[in-house]
Amino acid sequence: MGCIFCEFVSGERKIQLNGLPFLPLKETENTVSFLSMDFPENEDGHILVIPKKHYQFVEKIPKNIHHELNDHVISIIMAVRSYHGGCNILLNDGKCAGQTVFHAHYHIVPRDSGDGIKIEVWKKKTVDENEFRNIHNKLSKIIKSFG
Ligand code: AMP
Ligand code: ZN
Repeated sequence: MGCIFCEFVSGERKIQLNGLPFLPLKETENTVSFLSMDFPENEDGHILVIPKKHYQFVEKIPKNIHHELNDHVISIIMAVRSYHGGCNILLNDGKCAGQTVFHAHYHIVPRDSGDGIKIEVWKKKTVDENEFRNIHNKLSKIIKSFG
């Protein structure tokens, strides 16, 4: 199955799913950003930043390109923050985390107080110190195994 972002990068596709154009905002050698077709109700859009080459997962992106991608994300954050209260930076990693386009991408969502956006709402539970320490131990071991 083709990748919609790869098609935007190659120029094969110029129109987003809802008929709006693919319009790059900033382009570097290996990265590009553009306005997503998904507009939050009370904000002036949200921006996607992608590597030009297809990598499904962030760890597959070569370090130098990830560095370039990170710089690109930071420049968009600074631009957004110059006229908004702040922004959310998101990367949905995997289908169960909400990823629908399997070409790694960062979302930058402008935020202002009272905009009513709820990026992620989940029920919270109370944990006691014992459980807290157990989870910390488990996670520390797993993280260590990945170097
Ligand atoms: P995610 O859910 O994190 O994978 O984000 C997918 C992003 O790709 C969202 O911003 C969608 O608006 C955008 N998207 C998904 N399908 C299309 C499409 N066919 N054309 C343009 N943008 C799309
Ligand atoms: Zn792709």
